[in-house]
Amino acid sequence: MNRVALITGASRGIGRGIALELAAAGFDLVVNYAGNRAAAERTAADCLERARAVRVAVRVEICQADVSVGADRERLVGFAREGFGRLDLLVNNAGVAPVVRADLLEADEASFDRLIRINVKGPYFLTQRVARWMIEQTRAAPATAGEGRGVYRPKIVTISSISAYTASPNRGDYCVAKAALSMLTPLYATRLAEHGILVYDIRPGIIATDMTEPVKAKYDALIGGGLTPIARWGQPADVGKAVAALAQDALPFSTGDVINVDGGFHLRRL
Ligand code: NAP
Repeated sequence: MNRVALITGASRGIGRGIALELAAAGFDLVVNYAGNRAAAERTAADCLERARAVRVAVRVEICQADVSVGADRERLVGFAREGFGRLDLLVNNAGVAPVVRADLLEADEASFDRLIRINVKGPYFLTQRVARWMIEQTRAAPATAGEGRGVYRPKIVTISSISAYTASPNRGDYCVAKAALSMLTPLYATRLAEHGILVYDIRPGIIATDMTEPVKAKYDALIGGGLTPIARWGQPADVGKAVAALAQDALPFSTGDVINVDGGFHLRRL
């Protein structure tokens, strides 16, 4: 029986990159999206193709749900439960940038509320919902010392951002939301360790997706000017490979950790 992963916001960008790497690693997938069904269908088809290329058989289903809406979160978890009967990995990836980057002294409350709802409240309560189900599953099938896909070793991975600790005064709402989101991991890691559920925070740097497309020229110049020790754009697959490593038990005695996938952006340099 394959392990099962639920990835929020997997129709495009980083979530899609995560889905592709997990499919190649033999995970069955629930590909969540908000509104772009065509993109979600493309991701699902490409995941099946990717798995076939490495000769593994996986199942991929798509499910529309807005993570900021309680009833949608309930339906999403119900979809995974009815469709697959188990969940080994939740990836809290769905997130949005402000529609308009506005200066701290000008920015409005509507944008702040939107970002808190989608980027913080959604994953916070989705994690709560999934954690309860994972605890039920650990009780039904306690983790054993054995190896293999059948063993239940649940994990929760949240995609935060370098914006959790980097001040960008033209999108303070995004920075505040990502800083708040980063507390989810130490909280749930502490609470869920006794149940054998490992919890991680992945902090991507500048990754080439639709989200960063509007500021491509700015970031091209910054990267060209030495912003990051590894002087290139990050790709969704870079984040996907990190998630796949965690999902396959790469860090069994670690929980609550931040994994930087940022080309070394976080390093202080002199
Ligand atoms: P993206 O290309 O804009 O893709 C966003 C994804 O999230 C899409 O699949 C979208 O679904 C989904 N989504 C948006 N709102 C949603 C909602 N309310 N409920 C469910 N799904 C929703 O963004 P990205 O660059 O891949 O970013 C993914 C995550 O990484 C975000 O949390 C972002 O903050 C974080 N991140 C990005 C970067 C970067 O440089 N790109 C850096 C650090 C962190 P639809 O296709 O249906 O719209």
